[in-house]
Amino acid sequence: MDIALRIGDRFENGTGAPERVLNPRTGEVIADVPEASPAQVEDAVSAAANAFESWSRTTPAERSLMLLRLADLIERDADAYADLEALNCGKPRHLVLADEMPAVVDCFRFFAGAVRTMHGPVAGEYLAGHTSMIRRDPVGVIASIAPWNYPLMMAAWKLAPALAAGNTIVLKPSEQTPLTALKLAKHLAEIFPEGVANIVCGRGESVGRKLISDPRVAMISLTGDVGTGRKVLAAAQATLKRTHLELGGKAPVIVFDDADLDAVVAGLRGFGFYNAGQDCTAACRVYAGPKIYERLVADLASAASSLVFNARDDSQNEIGPLISERQRARVAGFVERAVGVKHISIAAGGRQPDGPGFYFQPTVVAGALQDDEIVRREVFGPVVSITRFSDVDQAVGWANDSDYGLASSVWTKDISRGLATASRLRYGCTWVNCHFMLTNEMPHGGLKQSGYGKDLSMYALEDYTVVRHIMINTQ
Ligand code: NAD
Repeated sequence: MDIALRIGDRFENGTGAPERVLNPRTGEVIADVPEASPAQVEDAVSAAANAFESWSRTTPAERSLMLLRLADLIERDADAYADLEALNCGKPRHLVLADEMPAVVDCFRFFAGAVRTMHGPVAGEYLAGHTSMIRRDPVGVIASIAPWNYPLMMAAWKLAPALAAGNTIVLKPSEQTPLTALKLAKHLAEIFPEGVANIVCGRGESVGRKLISDPRVAMISLTGDVGTGRKVLAAAQATLKRTHLELGGKAPVIVFDDADLDAVVAGLRGFGFYNAGQDCTAACRVYAGPKIYERLVADLASAASSLVFNARDDSQNEIGPLISERQRARVAGFVERAVGVKHISIAAGGRQPDGPGFYFQPTVVAGALQDDEIVRREVFGPVVSITRFSDVDQAVGWANDSDYGLASSVWTKDISRGLATASRLRYGCTWVNCHFMLTNEMPHGGLKQSGYGKDLSMYALEDYTVVRHIMINTQ
């Protein structure tokens, strides 16, 4: 197993404190991965800073070719990556292979193509005798900090646009899930010049904090918690670094009375609980119309109860455990407190099963009201709440009444109503009659405390570049 950090042209083990990496399915230790020391973090930033001058002057075609080669290597070794991701996150392996690996590969391929087709405003004479043109140039050294829920995919979302745009990067995966990033380091080293892509591991408060505080870092890209986002902003202010923040979510799902109930239930079964609900876009906060509410609660409860997890034959599993005992205790705490609320009932699940691993039953919380904690706070676990609404204004008002603004969905057979409702929602994305569908061509990112960075799509290339004006005196 690869546990060496990638710093410049070297592979070396961290010389800081070891971080215990666990298998969430059993609680057993997979590896102790020593984190980067402060000197190693500095070395990684130095390597990225030294590489920037020549890397930023490569052509889009050259960078594109390298990204395509990286995509090919990842695709070739998809089985091995899926093994590691399943081991480290407890995800059903067949789902990593079917859902995550193709998306990772396509992310590198998309940005390999996208960077060759960037458009901008036309050059022109806006002052007599002077020609103006706009450039989009790389920002510099990017410090990228990734979370644990989709470790390789988040690494891809950060690496692909940043490298395509001509930046150099120091990536820190989550201390809980470093294994696929460390494997990826080997592939990056085969393709990219020294210092262009560096990987350091370790905890947020030590390695992360050191990395984002380095004055040579020009931009910090974080996918993580809102609280961590605030720390990034505090660190960024000293040298006015750019920031790209992808933070939490609490996705509202508005289900009108005329919705196709079977499709809604299938959608919520899939996308309320996918990845054990550890997803910032999870369909976790349902608002149901008065006529459909009772049937939706009953049907979703039985659908959620039918989700397969913790089966000996992993190919049967539809969801895995939570990432850690701590995360499970957090989820259980939300459910326990919800159970204590008089008007709430648990329609399905609600408990942690006996046995090893950090599992929690897929849970449906019925009767929740807008001000209840379970409706307002991000649980990041397999828990979906359902709240009854009376009319569209109330549903939209409640949906928007959130600190978060990442993802949302509307379910109705009336497409005009679907579009009209979507236009009123204050979310980075609204799906109509589906949820959770991401594609590399379209942006993913939030409003409000969900952050403001855009991942995926041409918008990510914009985020990882700076606009510059060149003016030529032609007189
Ligand atoms: P987290 O904020 O605890 O950790 C994310 C990363 O930040 C980790 O690598 C961690 O080591 C690092 N970090 C923590 N403190 C730091 C500090 N002081 N300085 C620098 N780095 C620091 O989040 P998590 O628990 O790993 O992930 C779950 C959160 O991420 C959820 O809130 C979820 O909604 C969010 N998330 C958002 C998206 C999105 O696209 N918006 C995607 C996935 C996850």
